Amino acid sequence: MQLYNTATRRKEEFTPLSDNHVRMYVCGITAYDYCHIGHARSAVVFDVLVRQLRHLGLTVTFVRNFTDIDDKIINRANELGEDPARLAERFIHAFYEDMDRLNILRADLEPKATEHIQEMFSVTQELIAKGHAYATPSGDVYFRVRSFAGYGKLSGRSLDDLQAGARVAPGEEKEDPLDFALWKAAKPGEPFWESPWGPGRPGWHLECSAMSDKHLGLPLDIHGGGQDLIFPHHENEIAQSEAATGKELARFWVHNGFVQVNAEKMSKSLGNFSTIRDILADYLPETLRFFLLTKHYRSPVDFTPENMEEAEKNLRRIYSAKADMAAAVGGTKWSKTPLPAELTAELAAAEADWAKAMDDDLNTAAALGHVFTLVRLAGRVAEDKALRKAEAARDLWTRCLKDLDEWGTVLGLFAADPAAFLADLKAVRAKRKGIDPAKVEELLAARQEARKAKDFARSDALRDELLAMGVEVKDTPTGPAWDVA
Ligand SMILES: [Zn+2]
Repeated sequence: MQLYNTATRRKEEFTPLSDNHVRMYVCGITAYDYCHIGHARSAVVFDVLVRQLRHLGLTVTFVRNFTDIDDKIINRANELGEDPARLAERFIHAFYEDMDRLNILRADLEPKATEHIQEMFSVTQELIAKGHAYATPSGDVYFRVRSFAGYGKLSGRSLDDLQAGARVAPGEEKEDPLDFALWKAAKPGEPFWESPWGPGRPGWHLECSAMSDKHLGLPLDIHGGGQDLIFPHHENEIAQSEAATGKELARFWVHNGFVQVNAEKMSKSLGNFSTIRDILADYLPETLRFFLLTKHYRSPVDFTPENMEEAEKNLRRIYSAKADMAAAVGGTKWSKTPLPAELTAELAAAEADWAKAMDDDLNTAAALGHVFTLVRLAGRVAEDKALRKAEAARDLWTRCLKDLDEWGTVLGLFAADPAAFLADLKAVRAKRKGIDPAKVEELLAARQEARKAKDFARSDALRDELLAMGVEVKDTPTGPAWDVA
């Protein structure tokens, strides 16, 4: 498959270094708050990448870390009067709850920073021995950025540009404002570990260098994360790992794009941060997952109520088609009428296009388009009186259902029972729009009464009343059915 490599700035054919085995590392969360929609996107993107690689027959060892000691954790814990370790544990637990709801597979290994302090010492000692790092009198250890020739290669930044924006904060004993902390001396009241440089704690970047080498070995086949991590985090990881080991850190660098909220950048200062749990109070988890896959993973995705409703309507179409096909293939009497050759050809083309889209840098946006080709095709056969009783139609639907299962496994979608999903979707949409299902049923019953009594003025008035509430009524052979418009 082709993957865009941030390091080379182009799409390249991806194959693992050693036979069939992909070693993949993605930077996980800093556990100091609930996950927001940006975390959801990154998790969904790399989850689909892992699923796709496995679907292609590769073995994947996927490592995603937890940063469980960091300034943000300490500050938050102090604000709340909570022990930092307990706070981190609490938000790791919340992470699992959110990610399970989004159908994110667990990583094969989920190492924590605080469990790798010894490994971080080793990297730091190696860097000091090689002249790439230095300890200060107050017990901090810094990476000597100018000692590493490749610094800036991932993000494309030059040392001169970086120099212009770099400052030494009061009290810091850096040789050069560009240098970054590997180890921070403990301040009063902070959690600390005894180290060769005195009591302190690791800087944020160091853990990924220590854990990726320990659990996967270098070079990694894929190193991933959000675009916001390219600089400085991934640049610093490269400097640490490559300066310490002399090996390349990663062969492929994969970064997902940002989430915007109503076309604005999401930021704490704009107050437009949506946590996953806030969103899932209003929408089904599968809607959020589907929405996040409607754009190519490197493009920005815009979280708006309109886009979420669009995702709901599209999922409703897919699940309705699944339900219709499953019901149709259960029929018993079949004719020998052949399907027009172009219908079978269209299905084969959709299958080939699906595979091509997923192989083309994980283009889920295009791949979802081919899902709808399949849905339309199945619908066209169902609407054709001559074809829908044909054995060939049954076979086509069976093949469509199998495709949807297989594609859904890769996307982590479409696995629910269709009837249950459609009922849940209707309930969540009704709730969001303030529609009371009991009231709807009451009006529908009254409308049926009016129709029975041939009081069409009243039945029309009731239908209008339902419409005004945002309810659509469809009359089916088994009675009226309603949905949220
Ligand atoms: Zn990292």
